[in-house]
Amino acid sequence: MYGNMMDQPLLISEQIEFAARFHGDVEIVTRSVEGPIVRSTWGKVAQRVRQLANALRKAGVREGDRVATIAWNNQRHLELYFAVSSMGAVLHTINPRLLPDQLDYVVNHAKDRVLFFDTTFAKLAEVIGKRVPLHIALDDAYEAFIANESSEFSWPALDEKTASSLCYTSGTSGEPKGVLYSHRSTVLHSYAICMADALALSGADVIIPVVPMFHVNAWGVPYAAAMVGAKLVLPGPGLDGKNLLELITTEGVTSLLGVPTVWMNLLTHLKSAGQTLTTVKKVVIGGSACPPSMVEAFEREHNARVIHAWGMTETSPLGTANLMLPKHEALPYDETLKIKLKQGRPIFGIDLRIVDEEGAVLPHDGVSAGDLQVRGPWVASRYYGDDGIGLWRDGWFTTGDIATIDSDGYMQITDRSKDVIKSGGEWISSIDLENAAMQHPGVAQAAAIAAKHDKWGERPLLVVVGRAQGAPSAEALQTFLADKLVKWWRPDAIEFVDALPIGPTGKVLKRELRERFAHIVLSA
Ligand code: AMP
Repeated sequence: MYGNMMDQPLLISEQIEFAARFHGDVEIVTRSVEGPIVRSTWGKVAQRVRQLANALRKAGVREGDRVATIAWNNQRHLELYFAVSSMGAVLHTINPRLLPDQLDYVVNHAKDRVLFFDTTFAKLAEVIGKRVPLHIALDDAYEAFIANESSEFSWPALDEKTASSLCYTSGTSGEPKGVLYSHRSTVLHSYAICMADALALSGADVIIPVVPMFHVNAWGVPYAAAMVGAKLVLPGPGLDGKNLLELITTEGVTSLLGVPTVWMNLLTHLKSAGQTLTTVKKVVIGGSACPPSMVEAFEREHNARVIHAWGMTETSPLGTANLMLPKHEALPYDETLKIKLKQGRPIFGIDLRIVDEEGAVLPHDGVSAGDLQVRGPWVASRYYGDDGIGLWRDGWFTTGDIATIDSDGYMQITDRSKDVIKSGGEWISSIDLENAAMQHPGVAQAAAIAAKHDKWGERPLLVVVGRAQGAPSAEALQTFLADKLVKWWRPDAIEFVDALPIGPTGKVLKRELRERFAHIVLSA
């Protein structure tokens, strides 16, 4: 027997229209690429969203077409978020930090029809945009594109499973993989992140998503903010501590969201300016492990609650959030700090488990560590355009993270099985780095691992076995790598060893190497 409730699809167009109807005068504030602050409201943004949809339709964009962006967090990008998805097309947010080959690959793979770009990325747009029929700069050209359009648009009644946005991740080996979100997954994720025991976003908040809109839809914040009617402060290209502090103070920001590296910049700036945060109530930190000193600084010096969170491009991204339980209230701060450094408990909708090498499920005892697997309605079921089962087994997605889960359900990442390095929130492929080093005739073997870094979280450490003849010095190898790798991919340190530890299947045991060099902490 079916229930008698209305079968109304969960659509992104409903979020923006709801924001226009019920939170129309709530502000959207942007630090523009040109520098000045631009002020708008959800009501005005919604009008421009409809104008943009009309313009896109005239330009020939149809349901299912991909529309790409290379842009910062700003109002025009926000308008593209809602217009493109609401009209049934797919918003492909391109990460400008991908390497040129990867950029070319994703544009070709996605077969984008239109490319919108911030002028900062004009050169990139010119190179990769050769494959895209229409390019529009997010400046006066964008204004002209929407200027004469009607601010009425009748949104299609889409099936809620229709694709809404596409984000490529380079978090695994090989070519970037596309994660294709749907209206349903996006709206469900929006509800979920607003929960008090998740990221607790509400209409009382003034939110600054510093996490980029090209990285997992800025963690879904734009959609959730429209739903609850939160004021949004979009920092544009200014991610340095000074600009962030200015925006936070003048706009009365209550909620910060971003990766540890940006908070490091903000905390360093606050210290040197001798200032404290006065309006901020919570800081969501995710994307990389959160250092204890950062939690302490925000909570003790700035009186802001830290929510440490874990997620992936494949999980929309929110999977777990770290909030205290009532029984923790009586604990001394140092004890709660230990718990806060864990990645947190799953939010409803996300199911987590850890398994051993044979796939047997491990207990939630806080000690047994295994492959972290996840499933749920906002977890990808496969990659875009890829029919292989890849990382999916029996309805579970294997994350590439190694974790423990304790008896209260707090998940803690202890290691990583995927062979990549995450620096300042962005991935570096260890395989590409190793291949570049192996081109040196004096290098017999090379293995790149993540070493801890006080600013970037992780930086590459290259472990090298030199040949008897012609082994390079560290300096000579750095010089050799200089024209083979972009600067931020080059190793921060090179260690020479007699042999690499090799496992039974012939693979380098990176875990052993990570343990051996765990004492190395790099700094800026
Ligand atoms: P991405 O798909 O680029 O967002 O990267 C997802 C990956 O980032 C996860 O699988 C983890 O390896 C890492 N990650 C995300 N959040 C955290 C966190 N709070 N602590 C440690 N690693 C994290």
